[in-house]
Amino acid sequence: MSAGLVTAFAGRASAQESSGAAKSGTAAAAATPTQPLQDPTTKYPQPPYPAQTQEWPGLASKMDPKPDHGEESYKGSGRLAGRKALITGGDSGMGRAAAIAYAREGADVAINYLPQEESDAKEVVALIEAEGRKAVALPGDLKDRAFCSKLIEDASRELGGLDIFVSNAARQQARESLEDISDEDFDATFKTNVYAMFWLTKAALQHLKPGSSIIITTSVVAYDPPDVIMDYAMTKACGRNFVQSLAKQLAPKGIRVNGVAPGPIWTPLQPSGGQLPEDLPQFGADTPLGRAGQPGELAGIYVLLASNENSFATGQVYGAVGGNGGP
Ligand code: NAD
Ligand code: MG
Repeated sequence: MSAGLVTAFAGRASAQESSGAAKSGTAAAAATPTQPLQDPTTKYPQPPYPAQTQEWPGLASKMDPKPDHGEESYKGSGRLAGRKALITGGDSGMGRAAAIAYAREGADVAINYLPQEESDAKEVVALIEAEGRKAVALPGDLKDRAFCSKLIEDASRELGGLDIFVSNAARQQARESLEDISDEDFDATFKTNVYAMFWLTKAALQHLKPGSSIIITTSVVAYDPPDVIMDYAMTKACGRNFVQSLAKQLAPKGIRVNGVAPGPIWTPLQPSGGQLPEDLPQFGADTPLGRAGQPGELAGIYVLLASNENSFATGQVYGAVGGNGGP
């Protein structure tokens, strides 16, 4: 919450007290603004989406319609005040949604992304700084082991510690058949999605104290893999499994490990090769909610998994998939 908002709330509370109205819960409830009901089927754009492609890794700023990462809607309430978070793939998609929410909950946030994504990253840095929080931009390629070690060291030095690590970056390139997946594809997908998760988490353990959280973005495809993203789906199953074994290992140390399993979400990963171009207009149409999700719809899960309120949850995967199964 910004200093201005804190002042506004404090002002409202003291006005109530002086009128004698703030003594009961009822009065407090009366002061709470109403949350209008939002129909999830019509809350966001529905298919068909405009046909579009982008060069990998894609930019949120070039998508039509633009994804909603919670820029206008996410409201914090101090749930992560003083925390220090590193988010890979923090420039766009779920990573950007988590970065905005974490900053609004009071955390300082470091983001990693690829150099080609500098313009998206700049927007996220500005959004974090607008909350009065520290933003640290750390571009670089996670396929490089040495860079992964440096990223953890740079993030914890710049933030003055690390207590939330979100392994979220991923490569997804659709291929019609197994024969179409080259050794280079297979290697790049596993390096980005599995090796980097392993290298980064291992390095992060040097910094995480009891009460810290590790959050891995896995996917609904770890539960129900489609035909055209075979190598990617295998890596997301690795992430799910990693959460479950590492949670057992780290529980005695007081470090929680959980996962997020998104369904089809409107992010640059999809038009930059994640879907076959002809499939993109109907992306998410087969979910019971009838549309693609927006990254901002998952922000609350990333916050909850990192927060003290959620202290008994470890080794869990929380889904937001639009109704088609998953965790
Ligand atoms: P996104 O394109 O916004 O984010 C992916 C990010 O990965 C990119 O922004 C990029 O910064 C990063 N990245 C890729 N290769 C990298 C590399 N070699 N080095 C450094 N960074 C690299 O897309 P997103 O959909 O928000 O993806 C975030 C996570 O969500 C991923 O783990 C993805 O598997 C998962 N996910 C996405 C969907 C979906 O439908 N969009 C569904 C399920 C799971
Ligand atoms: Mg990006």
